[in-house]
Amino acid sequence: MGSEGAAQGHEAALTAILAQVSREALQGDGLDEVLQHICDCLVRNLPVAIASIILLDEGGTTFVQEVWSGELDLSPPALASGWPVTMGAAGRCVRMGTPQLIVDVDSDPDYVPGNAAVRSEYLVPIRHRDRLHGVLNIESTRSDLFDGQVRDMFDAIADQVAGAIHLARLAAELEEANRKLEALSMSDGLTGIGNRRLFDRQLAAEWKQMARERKPLALLLVDADHFKMLNDACGHLYGDECLRELARLCSRIAEGELVARFGGEEIMVMLPGRDLAQARTIAERIRLRIEDASMAHPSSPVAGHLTVSIGVAALWPDLDTEPARLVAAADRALYAAKAGGRNQVVAVEG
Ligand code: GH3
Ligand code: MG
Ligand code: MG
Repeated sequence: MGSEGAAQGHEAALTAILAQVSREALQGDGLDEVLQHICDCLVRNLPVAIASIILLDEGGTTFVQEVWSGELDLSPPALASGWPVTMGAAGRCVRMGTPQLIVDVDSDPDYVPGNAAVRSEYLVPIRHRDRLHGVLNIESTRSDLFDGQVRDMFDAIADQVAGAIHLARLAAELEEANRKLEALSMSDGLTGIGNRRLFDRQLAAEWKQMARERKPLALLLVDADHFKMLNDACGHLYGDECLRELARLCSRIAEGELVARFGGEEIMVMLPGRDLAQARTIAERIRLRIEDASMAHPSSPVAGHLTVSIGVAALWPDLDTEPARLVAAADRALYAAKAGGRNQVVAVEG
């Protein structure tokens, strides 16, 4: 083969490696795996002793993570506590913002040895638009590896890595935004407790779970007494404040349980694994705690302060019955509590 043929062969080999790296960058579960595959691929296909990708923190002042492949016979600087960009050849690459070619590592003051046989090193900034994510670091036991074509290839690989990092970070941000949206869509805007959608979803899930575990499921339906009169006498804003306080007190007493706004001034407490007697005890604690709070209700025919009636129901779920049956039972119990004079707990088997 003539020198022209050899040059073409060299170029074809580099193109093949680049294509393989591109494939790696699009595959793999998670960023760490993608970066690891890329480093492995470089070490496998080139006379490269060490290939590493060193990632910067958010502010771009400290290296916080390193993924590497190859033969490292000297311990690398510990990244556990971070490695400032004021140090090492990788730090210089970040500070200068340009690729760094070190033809003879022995004469470079910034070179940090990882393998005694390494002769030359090439470092490329990993940049996506204006954001510098880190450095691609390639070390070779040959001093002539990094010719123009090879350097162009590593520059292109650093672009691939930057794209992969950018996509992974976007995916993580999207996941976080979705998580927040999901939480928002399940919470009640006024009180901050769960909303009806969360209650319905959770009820269906706990129903199945308790059926499997052969345990009871109980509900408390807490309803403010003469709340319309409270609004009429003291205004809706004060009514809203009382609702928030009711939600807070229920959440505090039934800590760790689902507390959700079921309707206008009705709060549902879900008690998986509790039978009727246990649920009634918790309901009574909630009723007393709300009385103790002494929220003014000057027009209440029951007391001078805000009171609640609580309907309690419990049953042993089975998969042939709908959970709506339990809700209906709690509603019946609440109706009985209202009919019985309000400010009381009534419990019924579902
Ligand atoms: P009872 O003792 O029989 O429960 O009487 P009540 O007046 O509480 O019952 P009713 O269901 O007739 O009225 C509920 C009231 O709750 C009516 C409505 O104005 C009020 N309400 C519902 N949602 C809100 C809210 O978000 N803020 C305020 N301030 N009031 C609300
Ligand atoms: Mg009411
Ligand atoms: Mg009501």
